Amino acid sequence: MKNNKLVIVGTMAFDEIITPTAESGKILGGAATYIGLAAAFADADIAAVSVVGEDFLQEHLNLLTDRGIDISGVEQVSGGKSFYWKGKYHDNMNKRDTLDTQLNVLADFNPIVPEKYRDASIVMLGNLDPNVQQKVLDQLAPNPNRTVLLDTMNFWMDLQLNTLLNVIKQVDIITINDEEALQLSGEANLVLAAKAIHKMGPAYVIIKKGEHGALLFYKDQPFFAPALPLEKVVDPTGAGDSFAGGLSGYLAAQQTTNATTIKAGILQGTAAASLCVGTMGTSGLVQSSKEDFFAQLQKLERLRTITL
Ligand code: AMP
Repeated sequence: MKNNKLVIVGTMAFDEIITPTAESGKILGGAATYIGLAAAFADADIAAVSVVGEDFLQEHLNLLTDRGIDISGVEQVSGGKSFYWKGKYHDNMNKRDTLDTQLNVLADFNPIVPEKYRDASIVMLGNLDPNVQQKVLDQLAPNPNRTVLLDTMNFWMDLQLNTLLNVIKQVDIITINDEEALQLSGEANLVLAAKAIHKMGPAYVIIKKGEHGALLFYKDQPFFAPALPLEKVVDPTGAGDSFAGGLSGYLAAQQTTNATTIKAGILQGTAAASLCVGTMGTSGLVQSSKEDFFAQLQKLERLRTITL
């Protein structure tokens, strides 16, 4: 029997974000932060596994615990500095450059999955060092009803490709943005890229196309979920992580994982991402209630139907 436990591993970070109209200064970020906040819209039993430095604020940890997320697997290293990332968006906000990545405490992180969550049915390997993703997989108790999801980015393809490919082999669902799918596969076309990534392991390949939505490739039947058209995009940071959070949280709350629940989960991920990008950093997710989330889902439904 599938359980409703979700284990998330990913960075918890300080980010600095520059957009064409604003600069954030040092704010809360990190893949696991966005994933956790987004996953918490679902009725799942969620644990985060990550590492932070002494500089990380209690009020930031509280944002996760306030949403019922177990953080006993979040190690705080005394005297250490948290992961730091600085990024700058182009006028076309689908494009960004990484200006700085400081691994800090992530460099020596040895993740520990809390005992209670080792049998989790859903495991979300968020963006971080693939060696850490592998160590999380190695600690899991056998569960025939497990689904493993993975998100990654070019940074890890450039630095740790072999380890990453080995993790990808063990994964059921990969979420990856369009440019990174092309980089990973060496193809120049997304359909061919998805085919090549299938061969690396994942049965389900989800390619995110920013404001242009997300494509699921499964067997020979692609599925498309448009993003919600938004009047104002303030900061796209974390959209991909929010998407992964909405999807994995939903899957954790379901009784089975199959193509149908994954497609429904992609809509949940899309709704979570739409709440993320309207404000700087995590504040859109933090300020949104479950009602706000369901309102976005309804807008998505209306976007996708032809009845009045
Ligand atoms: P996204 O916009 O969905 O790609 O996620 C952005 C978040 O990922 C930021 O909050 C960063 O702290 C985090 N991040 C950026 N670079 C990395 C990296 N190399 N590994 C892990 N997390 C990262």
